[in-house]
Amino acid sequence: MKDKIKIGILSIQGDIEENFNACKDALKQLNIEGEVTNVKDYNEILDLDGLIVPGGESTVISTLLSLNQANWKLLKERINEGLSVMGTCAGLILLSKRSYDKRIGETKQKLLEILDITVERNAFGRQHESFETELEIPLIGEKPFKGVFIRGPVIKETGKDVKTLAKYDNEIVAVQQNNIIGTSFHPELTEDSRLHVHFIKTILKNKEPKNIR
Ligand code: GLN
Repeated sequence: MKDKIKIGILSIQGDIEENFNACKDALKQLNIEGEVTNVKDYNEILDLDGLIVPGGESTVISTLLSLNQANWKLLKERINEGLSVMGTCAGLILLSKRSYDKRIGETKQKLLEILDITVERNAFGRQHESFETELEIPLIGEKPFKGVFIRGPVIKETGKDVKTLAKYDNEIVAVQQNNIIGTSFHPELTEDSRLHVHFIKTILKNKEPKNIR
């Protein structure tokens, strides 16, 4: 039997409650005992099995998060050590190594630089800022997934350990690099919790004791 898992939602700004509810729903679907918590006190990061960095505004989240360098460092260290993390939209940007804005170029915002990708922020332009579309994500099943895009980024470059999970219009919009998942869209804004289920499966896989050789 696995112990109860603990998932935190980084609670600075953005879709905090929606991610909280999607995680609860995913735990229920998997019939797994787990706790979901709003992370405001960063010491809590130490005993989490998984963390969600919600969609919102990446410059706001990164500015507020980096006000305290110790918190910034702790979060980065924990993810590098293997804490499972899922970033949606602004969360994906925050996790990325490099980002630029389609309209204004270099944004010089502080990034966690953990997910080996380059993102183009606000990549869909004015006419198409917010939209919904059906995405093929084979990893979570055949049924298309409703992608809710709100001034979302696209992933322009990926490092060698990064797997593409979904594309839209020839652009990469969801990726996974081992314990790190990122989406350009907002899975928390749909009734379909399959990506949160996949995130929890990633957490469980990560928790398994590694084989001793
Ligand atoms: N455009 C936002 C940013 O660059 C992301 C938007 C979102 O998370 N919906 O941070």
